[in-house]
Amino acid sequence: MADCECLPSCPFFKGEMAIEEELGKTYRVYYCHGGMAICARYMVFQELGKPSVPPDLYPDQASRAKQILAAAKYDPSKA
Ligand code: SF4
Repeated sequence: MADCECLPSCPFFKGEMAIEEELGKTYRVYYCHGGMAICARYMVFQELGKPSVPPDLYPDQASRAKQILAAAKYDPSKA
């Protein structure tokens, strides 16, 4: 499995986001080393770019990522 392209600069991968140590390790293996397609941070990064990824968004928050993506695509002029 390929590593996530965001590894070098991702605050989660670099351990800059608070998380219980063992859970953080598990997430890094699960998401960062092959499972980035279902990582919430990666989902937002891929669609909207790095500046749009909230600093407190965790990899397992896919539903929050989907809300962010839906809000970004919402066009009030078409409501
Ligand atoms: S998979 Fe998610 S948490 Fe891991 S490096 Fe990529 S963007 Fe960051």
